[in-house]
Amino acid sequence: MNLKPEIAARFEELQSIRRHLHTCPEVGLETVETVAFVKTKLDSFGIGYEDIGVNSLLAKVEGRGPGKTVAFRADMDGLETTEETGLPYQSSTPGRMHACGHDGHTTTMLAFARYLADHHDFDGTVLLLFQSGEEGFDGALKIIEDGLFEKYDIDCMFGLHNWPGYAENQIVVHPGPCMASEDRFDLTIQGKSGHASVPHLCVEPFAAVADFIKGAQSVVARRISAHDKAVVSITQVHGGSAYNIIPGTVVIRGNVRTTDSSVQDIIEQSLGRLAEGVAAMYGVQASFNYHRKHPVLVNTMPEPAIRAAARVVGKENVLTDELSAMGSEDYAFFMQHAKGCFVWVGNGKNSPVIHNSKYDFNDQVILVGASFFAELLEEVLPQS
Ligand SMILES: [Zn+2]
Ligand SMILES: [Zn+2]
Repeated sequence: MNLKPEIAARFEELQSIRRHLHTCPEVGLETVETVAFVKTKLDSFGIGYEDIGVNSLLAKVEGRGPGKTVAFRADMDGLETTEETGLPYQSSTPGRMHACGHDGHTTTMLAFARYLADHHDFDGTVLLLFQSGEEGFDGALKIIEDGLFEKYDIDCMFGLHNWPGYAENQIVVHPGPCMASEDRFDLTIQGKSGHASVPHLCVEPFAAVADFIKGAQSVVARRISAHDKAVVSITQVHGGSAYNIIPGTVVIRGNVRTTDSSVQDIIEQSLGRLAEGVAAMYGVQASFNYHRKHPVLVNTMPEPAIRAAARVVGKENVLTDELSAMGSEDYAFFMQHAKGCFVWVGNGKNSPVIHNSKYDFNDQVILVGASFFAELLEEVLPQS
């Protein structure tokens, strides 16, 4: 391991920052106290910043002369779940937990910021983005809508996520798709309610519901190439209230994951056609709504990330053939506006998975991640 000595020397200070953040998770776009804390740290480093999006923060470090603008992003939000680690620094708020390690990502970015305060011998500008609302609250979109890419001509952008199941000295870089898209759909089947004894006098919705669910299972098997990846899951069915009433309405909801936007199109069309088909067959009305929540996260600049990672953890510990995850990440929205790369840093082979109530961020990732960002900067901006 070849950590930046100036970053590694601050381990105890960084660990205490991370553990402080861990005690006070904030959810969604309401990262008010976290932002205030980050501001006090940036003030102490002498680094300027501006508010952006909703409770997100953009710090700026100018180099020695003009050049490209490179952005780095960390997410800051926790989750609505109750922590069960029993750690001395566990969340002080029941029902809220840093269960995805965004406390660690925030600290990693602060470690990188502190490093940059002493190392701005590059040509160009570095932007450090501290983002709210990654966990399904459109935090990245709020920043883009607030004009990030209009205010700054960002040449490339980088980010990381800790990843349980890989060792602390492993970095995973996907050349191409890294994380899946997430789409959500709602189907409302409208029939006509009535007494359970006389279905012929009602318009019974459940037969249509059953055929839709069964048909949805065959979309991936029969409509998607065996070379592509996709998941269609039915996640909710709501309808009915009594043993002896045929309900008028049933609502079905589901979730779709792919790593190719053309596959998203096929699935949306197929499910829509299926909804129309079951409606015609059973004489019900079908109202189908398909919402694209997160795009596919595609890495367009894996090479500098691979070289930078190799300098930190050694070539043999940079994994470039790993399967992409079917989970999604709203960092994907940034990649629709700039080139860049998003990597995984191992959180420990035996770490509980993210979003688990016994999960904890591995503080070693702060040193690996910040050293990786520092090496990456040397890759993309000339330095003396
Ligand atoms: Zn998460
Ligand atoms: Zn996360």
